[in-house]
Amino acid sequence: MNKPIIATKLPLVGTTIFTVMSSMATEYKAINLSQGFPDFPVSEELISLVNKYMKLGYNQYAPMMGVKELREAISEKTLKLYNVNYHPDSEITVTSGGTEALFAAITAIVKAGDEVIVFEPAYDSYIPAIELNGGIPVCISLKYPDYKIDWNEVRNNISLKTKLIIINTPHNPTGAVLSENDLKELTNIVQNTNIFLIGDEVYEHIIFDSLKHHSLMTVPELQQRSFIISSFGKTFHVTGWKTGYCVAPKQLTTEFRKIHQFLTFSTFTPLQYALAEFLKNPDNYNGVPAFYEKKRNTFLESIKSSKFTFVPSKGSYFQNLCYSAISDEPDTDIAIRLTKEIGVASVPISVFYKDKTDEKILRFCFAKEDETLLKAGEKLSKL
Ligand code: PMP
Ligand code: GLN
Repeated sequence: MNKPIIATKLPLVGTTIFTVMSSMATEYKAINLSQGFPDFPVSEELISLVNKYMKLGYNQYAPMMGVKELREAISEKTLKLYNVNYHPDSEITVTSGGTEALFAAITAIVKAGDEVIVFEPAYDSYIPAIELNGGIPVCISLKYPDYKIDWNEVRNNISLKTKLIIINTPHNPTGAVLSENDLKELTNIVQNTNIFLIGDEVYEHIIFDSLKHHSLMTVPELQQRSFIISSFGKTFHVTGWKTGYCVAPKQLTTEFRKIHQFLTFSTFTPLQYALAEFLKNPDNYNGVPAFYEKKRNTFLESIKSSKFTFVPSKGSYFQNLCYSAISDEPDTDIAIRLTKEIGVASVPISVFYKDKTDEKILRFCFAKEDETLLKAGEKLSKL
């Protein structure tokens, strides 16, 4: 009997690095600074609110676009922070995490043969989502240590087929953030074109050293062509709750929702009501940058006598460390060795490049209890 054989749609894709490294951390009982997630408790108030709405009976499907109260709260927050008005009914969609929003936005825009500009190292869901839609990723490399975008290179890579540019600020896995000047450069490139933008801004509240988050929505020329994506998982330290949202002008949101309604249809209902109430108090997100800046500093202080070199992360909850003074092993090998022998798991940066560029850099997540960070720092300093 012939068994059917699947012709894979993603021949170059294996299991994501986050799953691989987290599983290895568990197996070897290593401190897990690989996959990005906090290890500290979630706000009791937020947990009580979810509980409250469950008990009140909000346990059936939410509206496809998200509950009205939450869309209104997102609209108010966006207006307050960035002075941009998105209509809750037609321009805001609640999603099951930033990942779903990315997939829906890419699918709404990309057709077979379209080119999409992606900056590498790139968050690992972008390229598979582009390819599943028949799109062609056009990768532009950002280089250690500052990972700045060379806008001339972007200009040189634009073609008549360029449909979309994906921007991620603050950036995972490098901790780089875009400046106001970067937005000006981007504006010069896309104005008078039909190019769309995705602003992956899931770390909008995790930015340091008094830097300002420059959202794509703050420049009208960019805003009118952008899907801007955020994640409550990041902002409120609840990555396992998988809730996020996408704001985009009406015409873009209409297409986005056509995809979203058949991907997940809607998102966990009681959580949406809870988030709507929690967002009413801006202190719940205004304190996030200082909170994580302290964590970054604790981690950097803990490795200051080590042989690692680094540029302090400007945003996201990741710090990259260069190990070239310690070893010339490939980054994937040393990441495995440190997990097994030293007991600290990290993520090798080469996996975020299509051509596996290896600059001897490892990514460490510092969204952890101070005690966890100090213990990891002590182990890493022994190398
Ligand atoms: N984009 C980036 C850059 C991320 O780091 C993450 C977090 N994994 C996501 C999107 C997805 O966010 P979520 O966990 O809300 O799906
Ligand atoms: N965003 C997280 C990271 O970069 C992990 C997301 C995931 O596990 N899919 O580590």
